[in-house]
This record gives sequence, C-alpha cells and structure tokens, in this order.
Amino acid sequence: MSANESTATNVSDAVADRATVRAWLDRVPQHLVVTPADEAADRAAIKQLLKQHNAVLVAHYYTSPALQSLAEETGGLVADSLEMARFGAQSAASTLVVAGVRFMGETAKILSPEKTVLMPTLEATCSLDIGCPADQFSAFCQQHPDHEVVVYANTSVAVKALSDWVVTSAIAVDVVEHVLSQGKQVIWAPDKHLGRYIQRKLGCDDILLWDGACIVHEEFKVKALQDMMHLYPEAAVLAHPESPYGVLELADVVGSTTQIIKAAQARSESSFIVATDHGIFYKLQQQAPDKIFYMAPTSGEGATCRSCANCPWMGMNTLSNLRATLEQHNNRIEVDAEQGRLALIPLQRMLEFRSQR
Ligand code: SF4
Repeated sequence: MSANESTATNVSDAVADRATVRAWLDRVPQHLVVTPADEAADRAAIKQLLKQHNAVLVAHYYTSPALQSLAEETGGLVADSLEMARFGAQSAASTLVVAGVRFMGETAKILSPEKTVLMPTLEATCSLDIGCPADQFSAFCQQHPDHEVVVYANTSVAVKALSDWVVTSAIAVDVVEHVLSQGKQVIWAPDKHLGRYIQRKLGCDDILLWDGACIVHEEFKVKALQDMMHLYPEAAVLAHPESPYGVLELADVVGSTTQIIKAAQARSESSFIVATDHGIFYKLQQQAPDKIFYMAPTSGEGATCRSCANCPWMGMNTLSNLRATLEQHNNRIEVDAEQGRLALIPLQRMLEFRSQR
C-alpha cells in the first residue's frame, strides 16, 4: 500500500470514527449534554438563587471543578468534611447547600439543626457509610462493651449516635492515641485501611477494626505505583490513608485532603504522585500552580487507562441538579432529633479535642 493510500484509509477511518462518535452522542439523553452556554446559565441562576435564599454553598474537594469554583465565587467554601460542617455552623446564612455525599449533609445538619440543609442530590452516598449498617455495628459494639468506640465521619447519623468519638482522617491517629493513653481499648470503624494505618502508626495491633473500605482509594495499586515512581523518581508521593497499607508504605506523606494540599504547597519537590480522588487536583493546581501532579495508578498492567480515581457518588453533584434543588427548595436533609442529639456529643468531643491542639 502506498503512503497516499495509507493516508486516504486513515482519513476515511477518522471520518467514520467521528460519524460513529456523533451517532453515539446523539443517543445521549439531552439533559446529560452540557454546553458552555448551559453551564453559564446554570452558574448565573445559582448565584441569584443563593442570594434569594440567604444560602451558602459548601463543596467537598472531590466534587467537580465547576462546583468548587462556584462555591469560591459565591463566598462559600471548598474543604474537607469537617471544615465544611464547621463553616456551615459559623456562617450567617440560614440555608446551607452541601455539595458532597449524604453524611456530609447530615453532619452539617447535626451541627446546625436550626438551619435548612439542602443537597443537589440525596442519592449520593459513600461505600464506607453503606458498609457499616447501624444495627450490625450496634451488635458488634455490644460484644465489646469495654471498648471505646471511635468512628470515622463517613458514617450515618445512627452510627455516629452509637459512638464515643467521631473523627476525620486529619485527626484519627491523634484521637485513638489519646484514648489508648487513658488505658482504654478501641473499636475503630468503618475504614479498615485507615484502621490498619492507625494500628501501625501507634504500634497497637489489638484495635478492633470494622471491615469497611472506600471503593475509590482501595483501588490504588502498589506495583503500578512502584513503576510510576521509577518513571518519575523526582516526584514525592502523597497518599490518603484510606488507601491500602502497601501504598501508604511507599508514600512520603500520608494525610487527609487538607494535609495533602498543604504538603504539596510546603514541600520542596516540584512534582507529586497523588493517591486520592481526582477532584482534589482542582485545589492542588490552584494552591500550587507551579507544581506538577500525577494521578496515582488504579490500574494494573495491560489496562487502557492508568487511573480512574473518581468517586461515583461525588460525581452525582452537578450544576444542573444544584440549580434544580435551589429552584424547588427540595432535597432537604432531615435528621432524627434523638439520633442527632446523640451524634452531636462525639462530634463536639472531636471539635474540642482539635481546638486544644
Ligand atoms: S471517595 Fe470514598 S470515602 Fe469519599 S465519599 Fe467516595 S466512596 Fe466515600
């Protein structure tokens, strides 16, 4: 085949491919196709609606760049789950709009019961929350009545209400260390990888671990990360402690989302391999614009893509469902009053502990 024939074949293949792609796009329901004009219209409407409802938008680091930038432009906040709830409680707004997953909306409501809390969708949950049903967890705790119960923020109100402490990843090791120093034994739930990390950090293997995991962080691969580290030997590795322990052993920094962002700003390296949800790249690039970030691999050899660390539930938050929520003033978070009262106790215990540090 001549060079011309080859080119002609390639061009016609490309045309055929474009036609195929266009045919597929035509089959996508129109409400899922977002044009720049749609996005601009949604942003303008949301800004107006936030003012109209005396509402503030708080978004998690794992939501889309569109939502994070909108929260910033409208005087809201982009943060981790604890800071989202604290900001909401201190805000003068009467309505909190929480872009994230359900436990984040519930935590905001527990800390601000007098405020209206709305979410773009009530369907967005978390594998850690799903994997720790309150009835089963209650039975587990009853088998170990002498243990102090420390649970991660990624849990339902009912599970928080069963606990002595609620913690975030930023403070989990410190709180468990504090409890152990009082001569108590600990139940940790629900993330087994974070629990194992705490065990190793504190040299205490008899902490009882619930068997839950984050479906996003659990996918980071040790061997593929080692290969990537050989490819980018100058890059430091930043990892969230929900990742498997083998990944954490390779990391230069293990920390919460906020701690990862601070490390990227403060460290001398100019490039980083990041093992957490891809949503954090918006803030990383904003806060450390002169640095380079690579997604840590979630795929083994032979995969066609290297990483797909995107939480499907975080991805359910969109500009269009945020706009619809504000227009209809629906998707309210309600919390059982007694469970909320009980869950507030371990949450406040954490906030006080943190303020003393
Ligand atoms: S990234 Fe993991 S821990 Fe965070 S909300 Fe999604 S499933 Fe839950």
